[in-house]
Amino acid sequence: RRANDRFNSTLREVLGSSPFILTKFDTFLNWVRGSSMFVLQFGIACCTIEMMGTLATKHDLDRFAAGVPRASPRQADLIIVPGTIVSKFAPRMKRVYDQMPEPKFVVSMGSCTISGGPFQEGYNVIKGAEQVIPVDIHVPGCPPRPEALIYGIAKLQERIAEGESSPVTVKPYELEQFGDLER
Ligand code: SF4
Repeated sequence: RRANDRFNSTLREVLGSSPFILTKFDTFLNWVRGSSMFVLQFGIACCTIEMMGTLATKHDLDRFAAGVPRASPRQADLIIVPGTIVSKFAPRMKRVYDQMPEPKFVVSMGSCTISGGPFQEGYNVIKGAEQVIPVDIHVPGCPPRPEALIYGIAKLQERIAEGESSPVTVKPYELEQFGDLER
C-alpha cells in the first residue's frame, strides 16, 4: 500500500491538473529505483530466519516492490545484512557487495550489524556492518521482527524516491587485515 500511495502521490504531483506529465528525469528515475528493488539472497546468522519470514507469504515483502530475491549479486540492487559478521566472512561480504551493479543499497538488520550485538566482546566479530560496506538503513533488534525490516525497507524506498544520500559515514575497510581471500 505504501508503494501504491507513493505512486499515487507522485502521479498527482507530476500531473496536477494538466493531462501532460512534466517531471525531472532524476525524479522519475529515483521513483523507479525505489519501486522495483531486487534483494540479494544473502544469509549470515539468526536474523536470516526473520528475513526469510519477511520474504515469505505471511509478510510478503513483494507488496512493497522489493520481494524478488536474486541469487546473483550482479542482478541485485539491495543487500540485507542479516546477522553477525565475523572477520573471516567480512572480505567475502565486501566482495559480494562489490559485484552488485550501481546504484546499490544496503540495509543492516539486527544489533549484531550495528555494534556486534551480544557478541561484541568477541575477538573475531566486526562491530558494525558499515566497517565493511556503506549502510543506508540500520534496523535494530535481536532479531528485528519482519514488520521492523519492512519498515526499514520502506524508509529506504522513501529516501531513494527523495534522492537522499546515505547518512552513514563509511569507515575505510582494510581488506588486508583479514588475510588472504582465498584461504
Ligand atoms: Fe542473532 Fe540477535 Fe545477532 Fe540477529 S542480532 S544475528 S538474532 S544474535
